[in-house]
Amino acid sequence: MDLASAGSDIERVIVTQEQIHNRLAELALQVEKDYEGREVLLIGILKGAVMTMADFARSLNRHIETDWMAVSSYGSGTKSSGVVRILKDLDRDILGKDVLIIEDIVDTGLTLAWLKSNLESRGTKSVEILTMLRKPEAAKVEVDVKYVGFDIPTDFVVGYGLDYNEKYRNLDFIGVLAKHVYS
Ligand code: 5GP
Repeated sequence: MDLASAGSDIERVIVTQEQIHNRLAELALQVEKDYEGREVLLIGILKGAVMTMADFARSLNRHIETDWMAVSSYGSGTKSSGVVRILKDLDRDILGKDVLIIEDIVDTGLTLAWLKSNLESRGTKSVEILTMLRKPEAAKVEVDVKYVGFDIPTDFVVGYGLDYNEKYRNLDFIGVLAKHVYS
């Protein structure tokens, strides 16, 4: 869905579709170089990272493997709870694997800090993180994120996989949700 169709629900655009695709191509080149000669398992975090995973995986000119996890985050609100629960675990063992987590957004960092150490505790060879968005001013814990699409302000954003009450995931850009939608 484009901006015109989303109407007044979007206050302003943060990242356009073109910027997303250009940035993913740059990150793909970096990942190809960093993982040269090694197998890599991309683990997408449902549901927000679906678009990033789909486009990033197709930007990579090499073989990869994929798997998915779902963890609880905000529920229906717009503030992080810090409580992480596995809703869907991996389909396979990741012992000895080089893992790259594919995430939509790092806000407080609580979810990813927990997820990274959870995956490391399963005996992985390495665990790195790629996120489309990061809110540096919202960080509550230090998480080492190797690949970042864009650093953005702390506003609540939707689109390109990110939702508000399961809506707006299909926007082809990322934008700030207008306050009238949730207040
Ligand atoms: P954290 O634990 O880093 O605070 O939050 C991570 C999760 O919170 C993300 O995976 C995402 O589901 C949700 N989240 C954080 N900020 C936003 C935002 O601006 N918009 C949306 N739609 N979800 C967000």
